[in-house]
Amino acid sequence: MKVYKIATIPGDGIGKEVVPAGRQVLEALAEGSTAFRFEFEDFGWGGDYFREHGVMMPEDGLAALKDKDAILFGSAGDPHIPDHVTLWGLRLKICQGFDQYANVRPTRILPGIDAPLKRCGPQDLNWVIVRENSEGEYSGVGGRVHQGHPIEAATDVSIMTRVGVERILRFAFRLAQSRPRKLLTVVTKSNAQRHAMVMWDQIAAEVAAEFPDVTWDKELVDAMTARMVNKPATLDTIVATNLHADILSDLAAALAGSLGIAPTGNIDPERRYPSMFEPIHGSAFDIMGKGLANPVGTFWSVVMLLEHLGEHEAAARVMQAVEQVTADVRLHTRDLGGSATTAQVTEAICRQLAGSP
Ligand code: ATP
Ligand code: MG
Repeated sequence: MKVYKIATIPGDGIGKEVVPAGRQVLEALAEGSTAFRFEFEDFGWGGDYFREHGVMMPEDGLAALKDKDAILFGSAGDPHIPDHVTLWGLRLKICQGFDQYANVRPTRILPGIDAPLKRCGPQDLNWVIVRENSEGEYSGVGGRVHQGHPIEAATDVSIMTRVGVERILRFAFRLAQSRPRKLLTVVTKSNAQRHAMVMWDQIAAEVAAEFPDVTWDKELVDAMTARMVNKPATLDTIVATNLHADILSDLAAALAGSLGIAPTGNIDPERRYPSMFEPIHGSAFDIMGKGLANPVGTFWSVVMLLEHLGEHEAAARVMQAVEQVTADVRLHTRDLGGSATTAQVTEAICRQLAGSP
């Protein structure tokens, strides 16, 4: 029997509700399996840890995670700690420390979900957004001078390396190639940003030559937002920079019905380090502790985690259970217009998993 070592990091806010729910689903799955089981280790890092220790996670935190097969993450964010401290102190520390350079965000309209685009059915919106996750606009390079003076100034330097751009584009082409439509849209802003974005376009054309069976096109990020709304069916796999894809994937999640549904994988495609899976929503302090959090984004992240482990059949079973649950409006949480609780949705999924072979 295979044993997978899974780290769970609930973090802050509703992360503390949805990550235990995700673990419950994995446990229910393992219960009926003779092929694998999970060994969980929970890490209580985040805002509470910060208040006690002055840091979001310990110095040797990455070493504790290094030998895990995967990480299930909740959210980092605390109303009393600046956002850039929580983000850089935990989530980005792990993403960058483990060079999880590909952020993968599938988006579909799940059965039973009342999505805002009325002209658009599930067959018209089936995307996967690939976000560059290691450099670009979020390189962290920059500075602030003359604070409080009339000449105050600040910079955030966007760093795009040939190595970084080439590897994310190659990852995106490969992913597009593995999907039925073999269709890739490369998003930049190369009309206005005439250095790094022009390099992206050039490298895209170079990498495309390695994938003659993939149909690809280019889109400017501003035009892309309109195309996602007006012509969703023309898109399949999408690749963009760290900042652009961050914004586009929130739009994608909203178009698919709710931020509470969307999953993410922070992937190290070379598998040198563990990859990390998380819902795309944040800590949502407005609803924490009330049992209102939609756990579906975390369950879908669990599906991605299982796929990454190579457990494709188990992944498909969880996805099927998720879709059975979303199809039942009585099991919709408040963000979907329903009144079901996190626990009710979780129990329903676990029951589905127990009932299926
Ligand atoms: P952070 O600062 O950590 O990014 P946030 O509160 O700014 O968190 P999100 O958590 O991403 O932002 O969510 C924005 C809003 O969407 C929340 O205030 C919440 O009402 C709603 N929301 C997000 N995730 C969920 C969920 N899983 N279930 C229900 N509602 C959600
Ligand atoms: Mg937020």
